[in-house]
Amino acid sequence: MTDAIYQGSCFCGAVCIEVRGAPIFSGYCHCQDCRDWSATPVSAFAMWPQDAVSFVRGKEELALFARNPQTPRGWCARCGGHLGAFRDKDVFPFVALGPHMFPDLPFTPTMHVFCGEGVVAIDDDLPKYRDAPGSLGGSGELMAGHPAP
Ligand SMILES: [Zn+2]
Ligand SMILES: [Zn+2]
Repeated sequence: MTDAIYQGSCFCGAVCIEVRGAPIFSGYCHCQDCRDWSATPVSAFAMWPQDAVSFVRGKEELALFARNPQTPRGWCARCGGHLGAFRDKDVFPFVALGPHMFPDLPFTPTMHVFCGEGVVAIDDDLPKYRDAPGSLGGSGELMAGHPAP
């Protein structure tokens, strides 16, 4: 079986990114970095192994800013459209992209992360991690509800 290929673009279309296969992790991030960067109370993410992500066009338009040196945020320099978090491969094995970019990708969130920093409660049955699951380098600690009382 061959992996499905999904292509996604920024707001203006100058940057096109291709991902191979289903994301390894999908969910919602409540961290303050995501909130401040995206100007939304919660952000959806999908993560692929670094080798499964490539630029079809527009890599030269990728702009990066790292308030937190571990998580450089990337956007299209032409339109400002958000793309994701582009970390060095030796720092983090995945690329986190905005699933909104990929119109054909079925988005199937499986978790909420960084609920300990959250400001909105989302009432669903997904696990709500205080930071992140162990498989993503977190403590794996779950919260009964969030934001924390
Ligand atoms: Zn653009
Ligand atoms: Zn976040």
